[in-house]
Amino acid sequence: MVKTISVSQIEQTVHEAHEIYSKNLNGKNADYIPYLAHIGSDLFGISVCLTNGRTIEVGDSRYKFGIESVSKVHTAILVLRQYGADKLLSMIGADATGLPFNSIFAILLENDHPSTPLVNAGAIAACSMVQPTGNSEKKWEAIVNNITLLSGSAPELIDELYRSESDTNFNNRSIAWLLKNYNRIYDEPSLSLDLYTRQCSLGITAEQLSVCGATIANKGLNPKTGIQVFEAAFAPKITSLIATVGFYEHTGDWLYSSGIPAKSGVGGGIMGVLPGIMGIAAFAPPIDEAGNSVKAQLAIKYIMNKLGLSVFSGDSVSITA
Ligand code: GLU
Repeated sequence: MVKTISVSQIEQTVHEAHEIYSKNLNGKNADYIPYLAHIGSDLFGISVCLTNGRTIEVGDSRYKFGIESVSKVHTAILVLRQYGADKLLSMIGADATGLPFNSIFAILLENDHPSTPLVNAGAIAACSMVQPTGNSEKKWEAIVNNITLLSGSAPELIDELYRSESDTNFNNRSIAWLLKNYNRIYDEPSLSLDLYTRQCSLGITAEQLSVCGATIANKGLNPKTGIQVFEAAFAPKITSLIATVGFYEHTGDWLYSSGIPAKSGVGGGIMGVLPGIMGIAAFAPPIDEAGNSVKAQLAIKYIMNKLGLSVFSGDSVSITA
């Protein structure tokens, strides 16, 4: 079936979602990273970027928040760009662990079996793979440049978040060294962990994440800049990784109820990808017990359901002006 939706319908739905959920007081800012505990709990922004480059924004869509785990998607794309799809699968993997994103247990259980670049262990391994090996500054440049290309504008390091996270990331230090024990890290563990911590501490806006989502939805062609950031064939690979594990242990419930593959981060951001149609991002700091922003989840679900969109519907969607 061909489904026709107008831009004004999308605009109205995005505004409704913001209006309905802005008063929601559920959830609590992440506090295991001290910086995140102090971000305004009532910040709330939504941005949709269509694959034709049209953006629809409401609320705090230009507020720079900690990208956190959403950055795992960006660096997985960089690994795809530098190594190709087969190497990402053999060196990291694409399976959900079914365990929390920072699980040590998952590494022990899967010591002969790689996991996914979208949980901490796989994301630290992904940072270790970024070329050129051993050169922290050049690797960092590659990571930031890749995020800039995907987002259409540059992210900005939040120094205070980086310090806060570096001072308290004991669990991630254990992960990096355990990976070393199992030969699943491909550069020096401390260097790889530092890159991971820095990328999580980048400030990004909902608008930038929506452009990145739209770039993936648009087969690697950034609809804002016109730059082909990655090979079209990688788009379904990256969307499948997001669909499998983007919402931690709640990924199945999320996909079932929202119909859109999305990646969330404990900074309160969520980035969704609807192939061929749009990227959508929402940001609100209070998160649930699994680490997903309460308001951002509700808003994206509302928009998807109200517009009758789902990655599984089989509909082809035409968006009219
Ligand atoms: N930097 C955070 C950590 O490693 C990211 C967590 C997340 O957003 O899931 O714990």
